[in-house]
Amino acid sequence: MRRIAPHAFVAALLLVALLTGAHEAIRNLVVDSRFALLSRAPTGEVVLVAIDPPSLEKMGVWPWPRAVHADLLAKLRQAGASEIAFDIDFSSPSDEASDRRFAEALRDAGGSVVLPAFKQWSSHQQGLIFYNSPLPAFADHSWAASVNVVADTDGLVRRYPFGDQVRGDFVPSLGALLGGSPQLRAGTFAIDFSITAGEIPVLSYVDVLRQETSTLQELLSKKKVIVGATALELGDRVNVPKGSIMPGAVLQALATESVLQGRALQGLPLLLALIGAIGLILVMSTAWGRLKHLQRAAIVLSIAVTVELGAWWLQWDSPYILDTSLLHIVAVGYLCAGAAHEIDLRGWLGRIAERRFQRVAMSVGDGLACTDQNGLITFWNPAAAAMFGHAPAEMIGTPLNEVISKADATDRTIAFGPEILRSMPGNVVELEGRRKDGQIFPVEAHLFGWEGAHGTEYGALLRDISVRKREIQRIRHLASTDTLTGLANRHTLREHLDAALMEAELERHEVAVLVIDLDRFKDINDTLGHTFGDDLLCLVAQRLQTLLGNDALVARLGGDEFAIVISGVEVAQTAGALAARICHNFQNESFSLRRREMRIGCSIGISVYPRDTSSPEQLLSSADLALYRAKAAREGKWSFYTEEIKAALANKLALESEFARAIERNEFELFYQPQIRLRDLRLIGAEALIRWRHPKRGLIGPAEFMDIVHTSASSNDVAYWVLHTACRKGAAWERQGRNLRVGVNLSPSQLESDNLVGAVAEALKESGLSPHLLDLEVTENILLSDDERAAEIFVRLRSLGVGLSFDDFGTGFGSLSYLKKYPFDRLKIDRSFVGEIRNNAGDAAIVSSTIGLAKQLGLDVVAEGVEDAATMDVLVGMGCNEAQGYYFGRPVSSVEFEQFWWPQSVPAVKEPHAA
Ligand code: C2E
Ligand code: CA
Ligand code: CA
Repeated sequence: MRRIAPHAFVAALLLVALLTGAHEAIRNLVVDSRFALLSRAPTGEVVLVAIDPPSLEKMGVWPWPRAVHADLLAKLRQAGASEIAFDIDFSSPSDEASDRRFAEALRDAGGSVVLPAFKQWSSHQQGLIFYNSPLPAFADHSWAASVNVVADTDGLVRRYPFGDQVRGDFVPSLGALLGGSPQLRAGTFAIDFSITAGEIPVLSYVDVLRQETSTLQELLSKKKVIVGATALELGDRVNVPKGSIMPGAVLQALATESVLQGRALQGLPLLLALIGAIGLILVMSTAWGRLKHLQRAAIVLSIAVTVELGAWWLQWDSPYILDTSLLHIVAVGYLCAGAAHEIDLRGWLGRIAERRFQRVAMSVGDGLACTDQNGLITFWNPAAAAMFGHAPAEMIGTPLNEVISKADATDRTIAFGPEILRSMPGNVVELEGRRKDGQIFPVEAHLFGWEGAHGTEYGALLRDISVRKREIQRIRHLASTDTLTGLANRHTLREHLDAALMEAELERHEVAVLVIDLDRFKDINDTLGHTFGDDLLCLVAQRLQTLLGNDALVARLGGDEFAIVISGVEVAQTAGALAARICHNFQNESFSLRRREMRIGCSIGISVYPRDTSSPEQLLSSADLALYRAKAAREGKWSFYTEEIKAALANKLALESEFARAIERNEFELFYQPQIRLRDLRLIGAEALIRWRHPKRGLIGPAEFMDIVHTSASSNDVAYWVLHTACRKGAAWERQGRNLRVGVNLSPSQLESDNLVGAVAEALKESGLSPHLLDLEVTENILLSDDERAAEIFVRLRSLGVGLSFDDFGTGFGSLSYLKKYPFDRLKIDRSFVGEIRNNAGDAAIVSSTIGLAKQLGLDVVAEGVEDAATMDVLVGMGCNEAQGYYFGRPVSSVEFEQFWWPQSVPAVKEPHAA
């Protein structure tokens, strides 16, 4: 490519010159300059008789009467002129006598005088030619000669015809005729302008008329005389080479001299010039590669100069013009091509670009390294120095491969060459950088290449992306892990589960999800503080991970809930064993935290794909349901998701859909359970307990549907229905003279509503029940939200005269603190303690101390869940004053309640009543 380029350029230049005719201008320039540098003397044989300003002054206004020309002719003949030619227009008649005299003079001269004939182009109509020939009277006694000349495109006259066609006859030109051209021929020749026109002898017309014949003879004898105008006012001037303007008559004289001296110059064929030019191209194309620039220039120049000198000599020595323009075009073309090739990058252009590049390179924030085609560093900017710790001086000349290499491939070297740019898509690659201290860091490199002064060079814009990469990693980590424990988070668990299920489907194996919940973690959080709770969660996370190893994914779902995913064949068995191991471990191995050794149990729910469900979402929620089941059964237990749970769920869903209708159709009923004073075993109260009499399923207990009530929008409606119904029943009993305290369980929604106090007052008023016979039972879980508000509500309820009971005492963690905070009248010890009072010393201690505490606080104590006489006896021994339980009577409808209790005015309890 680079070898062909200059020759193609030169050939193109040549072609363009030939097509546009530019070579002709160059040829004229060269040939004209040859005329300027060489000069020849005229022969002196041609003498010009000039109609010059002195002649015009003497003879008067032009045109003169032709009698004057007759006189001149006579004078010239006397002087012995060999040939006489007039370059004056004789084509139109003037005054008759004068014309006749001139015609006679011509005749006397024997018809040897030459008169001009010339063509004139119409200035009005293009293409129209007038032929100006001497009047017939003159023509009969003279020779006609053409005086037309031809101007080149640049307006300069160089060529001169040998003759011309005038009205169909061939007429020789004046120059050819006087000069004595051997034969009549057509065509033109180039006038030899090296003949110095100024040395052609000139006589003033008026002088010739005035001079003595003898004097004239000396000047004109045997001479060829041309009579013509030189005075400026007569016009007829032509532009000629060498930058001069000459009168037409002088040009005729010069043309005559050219012919006379054998210097009617002929151009050698253009083909010869073309062959020369092409020859030079051929020479250069063979020699180009082997030569240095200066040698090339020298060869081109010397060939051009030699040929030009030859052409000069030829033109001097013989009447031939060698056109060297094409050769010079080729030569100049080569010089330019060589110079362009040489100067372009290495010269000032290159230096300017280089300086600009340096300035930019020094200021860019990215590292910039340039290399030669072998990968050796040629440039190393300050940013690169800062990044790698190597100063430019250390790096120039060392391979770039020493500080950056490919990160992934086995062959880590970067191969410099065109393929490097092709092999790296977008030319942006991530590479590995090595700092001076040996540290490896990720580098983003933009690679590029260019044609430099010494072949292809490469550059790399280098950016240290270690911070960016760390940040990405950190964000990815944050998004995927639980910040507290470092375990996978719920999001990651879901992704993992999706993938695991997909793989399981392909591999036909199973996936199990274990959801783990810590027992009573909330209490730890509340009493020991959240920081302690958080630290404990971290320990739990660690424990779970050590128990599982790397085979399973452990995630924290939030709060104290964790999840484990395992997959494989017969995974249910593995999951069961794993759950057992975890539960056992948690029960038996304590966590040591802040000098405390504490045991925290856990409950686990397990669901299995594909046995239980096929969607990841449901797999998790099934495990959750199983977890609730495990917790309900007993803490520290694990449970699989079963058909039974599924059915319970379906049941709950069905009940939910039927709940609204149940309210409309009054399907709710209140049952009453007796409360007994232990001192005398008298019936002193009844707790109202709700039942749903379902049209298809029969009687349903609150355990099954209270959740639905609490979460429903109609929760308050149900709650106030209970309140009013119970109050009405109590009032009815009161009116019968049975002063029974009626216990009503408050719902969370009631405590949240603004008008609990108003509603209670309203219910009392509407039913007519004495306030002291209404006992509102409050459980710990409905107290939690807002202490202050609850306390205020209770004070106002108390001020109505209503009694307040703390229900399910002992199940919550804050029970004791609540006793101080709220104005309770009595507390009801939860049946979970009472039931085991005879077998479990711990439970007995709790119950006994609770009774003692209540007494000190001046509260009544009701023991719940008394199922047998022995339990009752123990309670009596502990000083408990009231009791409730199956032993005294199960909750029954009001009708049954009345039937059972009313007949005996003072019922002595013998056998437990069966509901
Ligand atoms: P609770 O307030 O603790 O009510 C006593 C529960 O203990 C009743 O269950 C009763 O049947 C049961 N029970 C009484 N004696 C014994 C016994 O000796 N052994 C055993 N194993 N159980 C005994 P029930 O009626 O199923 O009520 C369950 C819970 O539902 C109640 O617990 C109460 O918290 C809630 N509840 C019931 N009715 C209402 C209501 O009308 N409104 C509100 N808000 N909650 C209610
Ligand atoms: Ca209760
Ligand atoms: Ca209770």
